[in-house]
Amino acid sequence: MTNLTEVKELTHFIGGKRINGKSGRFSEVFNPATGEVIAKVPLASKEEVKEAVNHAKAAFPAWRNLTVAKRAEVVINFRGLLVKNKDKIIELICTESGKTEEDALGEITRGLESVDLAINAPHLMKGEYSVNVGGQINAYSAKYPLGVVTAISPFNFPLMVPLAQTSMAVAVGNAVILKASERVPMTSLYISELWIEAGLPDGIWTVVNGDKVAVDELLENPAVQAVSFVGSTPVARYIYETGAKYGKRVVALGGGKNNMVVMPDADLEQVAHAFISAGYGAASQRCMAISTLMPVGQETADRLVTILKEKIDNLKVGPHTENPDYGPVISQQAKKNILKAIDRSVEEGATLVCDGRNQDITTNTKGFFLAPTLLDHVKPGMEIYEEEVFGPVRNIVRTDSLEEAIQLINEHELGNGVTIFTNDGLAARKLTSEIDVGMVGVNVPIPIPVGFHNFAGFKGSRFGEGHMFGPDQARFFTKTKVVSERWIHPSEENAMSFAFPSN
Ligand code: NAD
Repeated sequence: MTNLTEVKELTHFIGGKRINGKSGRFSEVFNPATGEVIAKVPLASKEEVKEAVNHAKAAFPAWRNLTVAKRAEVVINFRGLLVKNKDKIIELICTESGKTEEDALGEITRGLESVDLAINAPHLMKGEYSVNVGGQINAYSAKYPLGVVTAISPFNFPLMVPLAQTSMAVAVGNAVILKASERVPMTSLYISELWIEAGLPDGIWTVVNGDKVAVDELLENPAVQAVSFVGSTPVARYIYETGAKYGKRVVALGGGKNNMVVMPDADLEQVAHAFISAGYGAASQRCMAISTLMPVGQETADRLVTILKEKIDNLKVGPHTENPDYGPVISQQAKKNILKAIDRSVEEGATLVCDGRNQDITTNTKGFFLAPTLLDHVKPGMEIYEEEVFGPVRNIVRTDSLEEAIQLINEHELGNGVTIFTNDGLAARKLTSEIDVGMVGVNVPIPIPVGFHNFAGFKGSRFGEGHMFGPDQARFFTKTKVVSERWIHPSEENAMSFAFPSN
């Protein structure tokens, strides 16, 4: 048992400053690469969340009434500070999540896309105007901020996902409360200070650290207008249902089980590189990671297995300081669960192409490292096929035709991402048009859209209507008011009419 008094005590960020936790409850934050506890993070009580909401509520009117251009100026400053402090941010991301430096830099770059789009809030806030829609009547629609809104984030992108969930929400005039992942709270606390340095008024940006207790208060609190959630599917479903019960606008993005369909005409060397990087990068802890390789035709599968085995067995796993291909998984418990999932797959009939169990992959034995596993002959119905396993074990599901691959993917509970590798335009077109998945790639390893396009899956990968990146954020975090206005001179006819207004 770790002695929590020896590690750094983190805070919340409320009313423009760091505030110590008062609940007396804490959670340990690990460096997954060393297995050491590096901090303890306070878990907010309902009362502490209420206090944070009250600060946000009080700060909202002034921020709402600031011009959109002035708000955008603050976001521009914030962007500059993120870039200026990128080395510090990389260090924080690597330390608390175990990512490689290259991956952390990628996360910053993609996160900045959301900030860039938020700088364009003045453009995205524009409404519509029609003249002469009735007798001397003009009509316009205009977007207004919602008020206090909340974002609840997962552990696997300590920076990119919070930025994607919150930048536009701030820019369009809301007061935002981020419930960061209790496993990676340090990056969110750090960027809180950058927001203040950028000129954001106190109370517009809040971080409450916590667990289900804090989340439940955010879902129930009448002042909170909207909830943006990103995390696992069971929690996403709970957030959506509970948020809806309390009358919130909710979008809840869940997990992914993403497929790479490989046609026989594809360049298999290219496919192998794409599959390995998209499948095992970040220790497979990405919602858009490729979980399942679906070669079409037995020969395609056999050829791919031969190419993949050697490359996967030679992957370098280790701490970010050693420039590995990928780092540790997030916790000891996650590692145990992944190992159990591999054992069960073998019991269920999958065959091991690469066996990552019990391998001595690094001298650093306390970190939560796992060598890569590749399972062949995986079939629908097996747990490893049906469930998202958030760690470096990937599957091959052999199919006889593109039709079979499409049918299997469409029947799966999750529908985040899919990609097809082929030189056949008709095959690509068939998949893109028939597949029931939110984000689709053609010859692209990870079909994550750029930040100025919308991002979200289908089916069990998303509950509610809304997206995480993209222009839809400006819609999600605003309400549209439609005004019909008529200015008539007293001399003009103005008789009473009991008929329903018509033009
Ligand atoms: P998680 O669902 O365990 O936690 C996400 C957030 O929900 C955290 O802030 C956590 O504190 C909170 N939470 C956890 N259990 C809760 C409960 N019972 N009630 C209320 N709140 C609860 O997810 P995670 O393990 O942190 O992140 C990994 C998951 O996130 C994976 O499933 C991954 O696919 C998914 N993810 C999805 C996307 C996407 O865009 N679809 C992006 C990133 C991650």
